[in-house]
Amino acid sequence: MKKHILVVPGDGIGAEVTTVGKQVLETIAQKFGHEFTYDEALIGHVAIEATGTALPDETLTKMKSADAVLFGAVGHPKYDNDPSAKVRPEQGLLKMRKELGLYANLRPIKLFDELLDASSIKPEILRGADILFFRELTGDVYFGKRERIDEGNTAYDTMIYSKYEVERIVRKAFEAARTRSKKLCSVDKANVLESSRLWREVVQAIAPDYPDVTVEHQFIDAAAMLLIKDPKRFDVVVTGNLFGDILTDEASQIAGSMGMLASASVGDNTGVYEPIHGSAHDITGKGVANPLASILSAALLLDISFGLKEEAQAIIDAVDAVLKAGFRTRDIADANTPEEKILGTQAMGDQILQYLTA
Ligand code: NAD
Repeated sequence: MKKHILVVPGDGIGAEVTTVGKQVLETIAQKFGHEFTYDEALIGHVAIEATGTALPDETLTKMKSADAVLFGAVGHPKYDNDPSAKVRPEQGLLKMRKELGLYANLRPIKLFDELLDASSIKPEILRGADILFFRELTGDVYFGKRERIDEGNTAYDTMIYSKYEVERIVRKAFEAARTRSKKLCSVDKANVLESSRLWREVVQAIAPDYPDVTVEHQFIDAAAMLLIKDPKRFDVVVTGNLFGDILTDEASQIAGSMGMLASASVGDNTGVYEPIHGSAHDITGKGVANPLASILSAALLLDISFGLKEEAQAIIDAVDAVLKAGFRTRDIADANTPEEKILGTQAMGDQILQYLTA
């Protein structure tokens, strides 16, 4: 198979982890006889420094013509505590999602057995947890009208959803539920918010088209509690942009670390595959970032955008084997991990590459 992949490292550890993610893609190409070509483009703080804008037109054009995008992260401490900055790295991310029509963000939360003890949740509660989140990505308060009024002393954001926006992601979630345990949980705040009442109405209207799927509704506050109390009760979960943002970070603790979780953003155009973590400037340049989320993002890319299921599974098996062999990055190591098994970013990547080429 011939495919063109755009690598967009972005900021901070984004560059460190996507380097390894790309190496894994290339190793898979060679192992399975595919021909992947690559290009790179700027986004976020590095793009602002180079061009004055967080998502240069050149990057967007390259994204639209690529078969898939392997993405790192955006963000820089310079902007985090400066609410007045007019140009911000996150603008690049939001614009990319809107321009590429990436309305569905898929986040599989699956715990590798070897990491049961790395989580702050008790192993007996975690064992067997396997959740697929569908987070809506191009609506909600992130894109609604926002303003400062009252001479800057009052501010508001608008939580807004249209029926078609809810319907297209909810249908994707129902389709996925059909291929899994046929259980779908929709999360909203319909007891308070009008946009959530619309959300729930749409889910209820669509449900009869999927009679084989059992639907339950949970309020976001209850869902956040149940996720920690009994993660195994969830299978496919669909929710809006803001609730999904918070809930999936919470769920990252089921997988042991932010450094383990991959995501796929798909919609009308090129799919974008990225770790759920940010640019992590506290560890940037130290060579300690966990590259497994980027590596697992590469697996999602092969599976979802190229339909290469066997190749994707080969990557997941490699991650499993390397963890079973006891190798850890610092974020997933525990008190029992021998110092010589704690690896840096590239050394962890090398273990995966070695397993794939063995
Ligand atoms: P973060 O995900 O960057 O880091 C949170 C914590 O997790 C940090 O202690 C970090 O060291 C650790 N961590 C994250 N990824 C790791 C990895 N691969 N290996 C080991 N440890 C890892 O979130 P933050 O600190 O809240 O945000 C930092 C910057 O990233 C901010 O500017 C924020 O806006 C941005 N951000 C970007 C995205 C994105 O690009 N999709 C997502 C979230 C945050």
